[in-house]
Amino acid sequence: GVRRMRSFGTTIFAEMSALAVRHGAVNLGQGFPDTDGPPEMLEAAAEALRTGHNQYPPGPGVPVLRAAVAEHQRRFWGLAYDPDGEVLITAGATEAIAAAILGLCEPGDEVVCFEPYYDSYAASIALAGAVRRPVTLRPGAGGRYAFDPAELRAAFGPRTRLVLLNSPHNPTGKVFTRDELGQIAELCQEYGAYAVTDEVYEHLVFSDAGDAHVPLATLPGMRERTVRISSAGKTFSCTGWKIGWASGPAGLVTAVTRVKQFLTYVNGAPFQPAVAVALGLPDSYYEAFRAGLEARRDQLVAGLTDAGFGVLPSEGTYFVTTDITPLGGTDGMDFCRTLPEARGVAAVPTEVFYDDPEAGKRLVRFAFCKRPDVIDEAVRRLRA
Ligand code: PMP
Ligand code: GLN
Repeated sequence: GVRRMRSFGTTIFAEMSALAVRHGAVNLGQGFPDTDGPPEMLEAAAEALRTGHNQYPPGPGVPVLRAAVAEHQRRFWGLAYDPDGEVLITAGATEAIAAAILGLCEPGDEVVCFEPYYDSYAASIALAGAVRRPVTLRPGAGGRYAFDPAELRAAFGPRTRLVLLNSPHNPTGKVFTRDELGQIAELCQEYGAYAVTDEVYEHLVFSDAGDAHVPLATLPGMRERTVRISSAGKTFSCTGWKIGWASGPAGLVTAVTRVKQFLTYVNGAPFQPAVAVALGLPDSYYEAFRAGLEARRDQLVAGLTDAGFGVLPSEGTYFVTTDITPLGGTDGMDFCRTLPEARGVAAVPTEVFYDDPEAGKRLVRFAFCKRPDVIDEAVRRLRA
C-alpha cells in the first residue's frame, strides 16, 4: 500500500473486539451500546424500508433529515443553518471528518488536534497529505485533562489550515470549557484557520461537568469558519446505521460535499427519515438518555475503583480512563491484550491515541454504554 498509510494497521477497536469474541469476554472496549435506540425511530426505519425508500437519496441527504438536523441545532444550541446548502448528510461522522479534511487541506497544510485523538483523525489527515500538530491533553488538578495554553499557541503557524476539535472528548471523557474553547477560537481567528468540530457526544455531558456542552461554532466569529459534525450513532444508539452530518457556512459545506460525493456518493436511504423522527423527539428523550449514561458511568467508576484501578474523571461521552499503575501495570497495550483471556473483559489501551505512545502508556479506556447487568458482570470479573 501507499507510504502515507503504512503506519496504520488494524484499528484498535477491531483488534480488541475480535479478542473479546474469541475469549467470550465482556466487551467494554469498542464503544457501542448493547440496547437499541428509540422505538419511534426503529419503527420509522422499518416503515421506510417497506414504503420504497430504498434507492439513492438526494446528494446532500433527504430534505426531511436536513430540516431536522437544522432544527435540532437551533433548538439545542441556538445555531441557525439553512437546510438547503448548509447541511450535508454523510456516512457517519467518520466520513464527514474525512471529507472535511480532504476538502479543506492542501498537501503539507497543518492540522492542529488534541491528543489523545480518535483514531480516524490521524488517518484522514494522512490521506489528505496534511500534517498533524498534536497538542497533548494531560491530567491536571483532580485528574481533569487540560492542555497547556503555550503549547496550543506553539502548535499554530503559517501553515495551519484547521483545528480538529472533539468535545466531549473520546477517549478522555473531557468536556472542553467555554474558557478553553475561547482560547482555541482566538487562535483560529488570529491565524485564519478553519475549525472542524466532532461533536458526536453532544448530548452526553454529565451533571458534574460544570458547563454544559458548548459548540465552538457558538463563540463569536466562529460560525463562519467552522464545520460542525455530529451523527445519530451515539445519541440514538444506532452506531451501525452510519448516519452523520456536517453543518457550516455554504462555502465550507460545498467543499465537504465535493469530496463526499466521490467517497460514497450517498448513504443510508431508509435510515435518513428515521433519524429525522429521532431528532424531533421531546427533551425528555435526551434527558433520559443522558441520565441513563451518567448512572452507568457512576456504576462502572465505582466498580473499577473497587477493583483497584486509578480512575480519572469522566465528564462526558461513553468512556472512562483508568491508570493501571496501582494494579502493577506498566503497559496498557500488554494489559489489554491479555485482559480478555485472563479476566474475561475487553478494554482499549489509550496509548494508541497518542503520537507519543509513552504519554498514554499506563492508561486504559473502558466503555460504559452497556446494560447495568453487563457492567456488573464485568466488574465482578475484574475484582475476582
Ligand atoms: N468521532 C468520535 C470522537 C467517535 O468516538 C466516533 C465513534 N463512534 C466517531 C467520530 C465516529 O462516528 P460515526 O460512527 O458516526 O462515524
Ligand atoms: N467510536 C467508538 C470507540 O471509540 C468505536 C468506533 C469504531 O469502532 N471505529 O470505541
